[in-house]
Amino acid sequence: MTGSFTYQFDTPVYKGTTTIRTGHFINGVWIQAMDPKAVIPVVNPTTGETITNVAAGATEDVHTAVLHAIEAYKRVWGLNSPGTARSLLLNVLADLVEEHADELAAIEALNVGKPFHQARNMDVKTTIELFRYYAGWADKVEGKSYETDEKKLAYTRKEPFGVVGLIVPWNFPLLIAASKLAPALASGNSVVLKPSEVTPLSTLKLCEYISAAGFPDGVVNVINGYGDPVGVAIARHANIGKVSFTGSTRVGHQIMRASSETNLRPVTLELGGKSPTIVFDDADLKQAVKWAAQGLFYNSGQACIAGSRIYVHAGIYQDFLDSFTETVLNLEKLIGNPFAENTQQGPLVSAVHFNRVMDYIKSGEAEGATIHTGGTRRGTEGYFITPTIFTGVTASMKIMREEIFGPVGAIMMFTTESEVVEAANMTEYGLAANVFSQNVDRALRVAHRLESGSIWVNSAGDTEIAVPFGGYKQSGIGREMGQHAIDAYTRTKAVHVNIGHEL
Ligand code: NAD
Repeated sequence: MTGSFTYQFDTPVYKGTTTIRTGHFINGVWIQAMDPKAVIPVVNPTTGETITNVAAGATEDVHTAVLHAIEAYKRVWGLNSPGTARSLLLNVLADLVEEHADELAAIEALNVGKPFHQARNMDVKTTIELFRYYAGWADKVEGKSYETDEKKLAYTRKEPFGVVGLIVPWNFPLLIAASKLAPALASGNSVVLKPSEVTPLSTLKLCEYISAAGFPDGVVNVINGYGDPVGVAIARHANIGKVSFTGSTRVGHQIMRASSETNLRPVTLELGGKSPTIVFDDADLKQAVKWAAQGLFYNSGQACIAGSRIYVHAGIYQDFLDSFTETVLNLEKLIGNPFAENTQQGPLVSAVHFNRVMDYIKSGEAEGATIHTGGTRRGTEGYFITPTIFTGVTASMKIMREEIFGPVGAIMMFTTESEVVEAANMTEYGLAANVFSQNVDRALRVAHRLESGSIWVNSAGDTEIAVPFGGYKQSGIGREMGQHAIDAYTRTKAVHVNIGHEL
């Protein structure tokens, strides 16, 4: 391994060259894997070709990173860095990301297969906003003082944990890394972060900007690697005071178990979903169709909040289905290379994931559902699947119960409000739900009865940085975004001061 690779983009939407380091970023220095043969191939999902290899970390890399993170925390960070200084650094980082926004979007399009414009206007744009937003919080992390009596003062402080572990999935690599890094750093923690082994490139590039922004060495450490051993080592490390994990519910259980078996560190878990979209007969049909399609197929359906169970009132079922089908067939024409001007849907992220999604499609057919549209591979190169809609489904089918995480959804008919609320809630997940109705009483009544951490009324998935995000049930524990993330990365200390009580 040479330690870096250079990639030349010569595409209709972006021309330029990027060089990315492929080691671990520990204490401000790039470290190669201890065993030079321990590498992870990083694949371009549009072609199936290997882009480069990155170092595959080991448990010892996590130990080394944690030691440096502790040292940095004690010496120059945490309680020794004023919020104003941390704010300034986060703002400089936001500026650097903005300066290199197109390059980062191109890296994301290359590695994840996202359409370049979507990566630029969503992932990178939100990343910049996140660093700026939490730069604003860094000097506003406040405790409270309490009325006791005149001879006593009691107050609280919001203190960082010290070292926090951040574990990131592959679907929004840069954005999710930023959504954890920004509040963790704003509140004064040092971090050890593991990107997904499938999509590490944008995070590795970000490390250069973190360094250039002037963050002290050791405050941010990034280890490449597989879930086992690197994620496991983070989840179990005795000196990591908090873990924030985004990924599957299956691994979420393991992260929580690791905490209970080791130091009982608090965990934030942002997990899977199987979100319902409910369309009542008084909805604005045109808008409902557009939002429901976007809510299901955005990012090739590889979104935790994807509205993959669409319930439509019998009175408009056929009209909705016709219009939705037309929208899906139009989207199908816009599948293609992420770097083409008009592309709206790229490939799935990997061969493994492509096969998993195709297996779900087969299972839907085998269980008797009807493929209304899609359900096929597109082309012979890369991992493209046509947007797929099932009809004729029942609640017990696997495709209605499990998270597919691809461009696959089902449409079902309902007749009464209570029936659809019950069906929507009949899932182990509770991340998000979308309700379409022009009747505000009904829309809000249903919104309040759905068991989900986020509800969208007459839209789908347009998250806001300032608004808490997280799951009910097995979709997660804790909240990210807004002030909630500052709370999640701090612990409360109560200080009691005697100013005159004598014993
Ligand atoms: P995943 O759970 O397989 O992996 C997530 C991360 O955990 C990766 O970095 C992986 O290497 C690491 N990991 C794997 N095994 C581990 C272990 N035993 N200990 C510690 N770390 C381990 O998820 P994925 O396939 O990368 O991402 C898709 C999943 O993420 C979907 O279920 C999706 O719904 C979920 N997700 C949730 C949100 C949310 O905010 N709720 C957002 C995006 C994705």
